Amino acid sequence: MRTRSETGRTHVVIIGAGFGGLHAARRLKKADVEVTVVDRGTSHLFQPLLYQCATGLLSQGAISSPIRHLLRRQRNAKVVLGEAKNVDVAARTVAVERPDGSTMTIPYDHLVVAAGMRTAYHGCDDFAEFAPGMKTLDDALAIRRKIIGAFELAESLPDATQRRPWLTFAVAGGGPTGVELAGQIRELATLALENEFRSIDPGEARVLLLHGGDRVLPSFSPALSRRAQKTLDDLGVETHLGVHVTGVTADQVETTTKSEPHEITHYEAKTALWTTGVEAVPFAAALARALGVEQDHGGRVPVEADLSVRGHPEVWVVGDMSSRDELPGVAEVAMQGGRHVGAVIAHLAGGGTDRAAFRYHDLGSAAYIARRHAVVQAGKLQLSGYLGWLAWGVIHIAFLAGMRNRMGTVMNWSATLLTDSRRERAITYGDPETARQPYR
Ligand SMILES: Cc1cc2nc3c(=O)[nH]c(=O)nc-3n(C[C@H](O)[C@H](O)[C@H](O)COP(=O)(O)OP(=O)(O)OC[C@H]3O[C@@H](n4cnc5c(N)ncnc54)[C@H](O)[C@@H]3O)c2cc1C
Repeated sequence: MRTRSETGRTHVVIIGAGFGGLHAARRLKKADVEVTVVDRGTSHLFQPLLYQCATGLLSQGAISSPIRHLLRRQRNAKVVLGEAKNVDVAARTVAVERPDGSTMTIPYDHLVVAAGMRTAYHGCDDFAEFAPGMKTLDDALAIRRKIIGAFELAESLPDATQRRPWLTFAVAGGGPTGVELAGQIRELATLALENEFRSIDPGEARVLLLHGGDRVLPSFSPALSRRAQKTLDDLGVETHLGVHVTGVTADQVETTTKSEPHEITHYEAKTALWTTGVEAVPFAAALARALGVEQDHGGRVPVEADLSVRGHPEVWVVGDMSSRDELPGVAEVAMQGGRHVGAVIAHLAGGGTDRAAFRYHDLGSAAYIARRHAVVQAGKLQLSGYLGWLAWGVIHIAFLAGMRNRMGTVMNWSATLLTDSRRERAITYGDPETARQPYR
């Protein structure tokens, strides 16, 4: 067989070192192949804890691990820093833009695409400047700058009327990310910042959770949604259901009631955060064009039962970017999909011909609401409150990449529980009114 690596072994190029890409690469460790992992960043990011980085609980190092370090013992794998831009399916090459602007053309025998999603503004792209989403480390750090900066600016203002917009935080979206973020801002304000300011009372921070549905956490059972709502209420989060965010500026958020479109409300809020949706990263469009397939409504690329693309058995799409059977966009789908594709490629490279279908084993989902309160749903098992919180902690530590990050996170959580403090509050210089993100 003709191969595209210098050694004559099958060359597998993996785009993206998130959950899907990393697990595909690891599954190929013992296979007779060469692996090249391409990512636009240098780290594998644990997105489920981004909100803890954004609210000063964990450092960016605690929720990310260098890709090179994670693959250091895998002799058949190398790492390339760059953003995949295009694919030539006839030549079997992928064009990668390097940080210096140059383009690298990488030949492949198998191409595994696991490039994930980005924040979607549903046609309201002008909101992005003032309401960052939460998908990348840059997003988490921009959000941290906005939140911490808002308390600092409020402290320096002479009267309550001027301070109020700085102490009002509007979170759009009542899914897990919005709920976690809203809860954490209240906990930051009422516990960690409690005695640190002289003019303001951080506990007066108003946190608005603005959600289009009729209950928060719609992907969980109604009973768990109710329990989550009760915890949010007890924390002091102000939830507004059945509303769309229809306007965001530097100092105002506008909502429209879904059932009464003429009912428009304006909130004076200097901080708006956006968690209402995702769409495939731009590379998905280039890939779909090159492969001659149509993206779904979220920009995902359709795949066959084995996760390869119809008519292109050497191109595979896994994780959030692949569109198949309405599988949820969660880490476990990406990890299992990555491992599945790695196994099939290893089998083919070893001379096999079978291409097994991908079967997802649902291990459940979890969302953190507040300290000692989380919800966990796995089949018939439903946990909330303290038990849910313990289970949530164990699950997240188990999936965090790297022993050092696991140990550091456990120590950090313990210290925060014992002292109520949050030490990861460093912000870079910048304008807290805007959030500029390099990857949109
Ligand atoms: C805030 C938040 C909280 C979440 N909480 C949970 C949770 O509690 N439980 C759960 O199961 N799931 C959760 N998820 C979802 C989960 O993180 C995703 O389902 C998972 O990350 C998808 O993995 P992936 O490999 O498809 O993509 P990703 O993990 O997003 O990885 C994509 C990788 O591709 C890289 N990339 C993108 N474009 C290019 C390009 N053109 N060239 C090169 N590299 C590129 C990116 O840098 C990234 O490293 C959460 C997501 C977010 C954002």
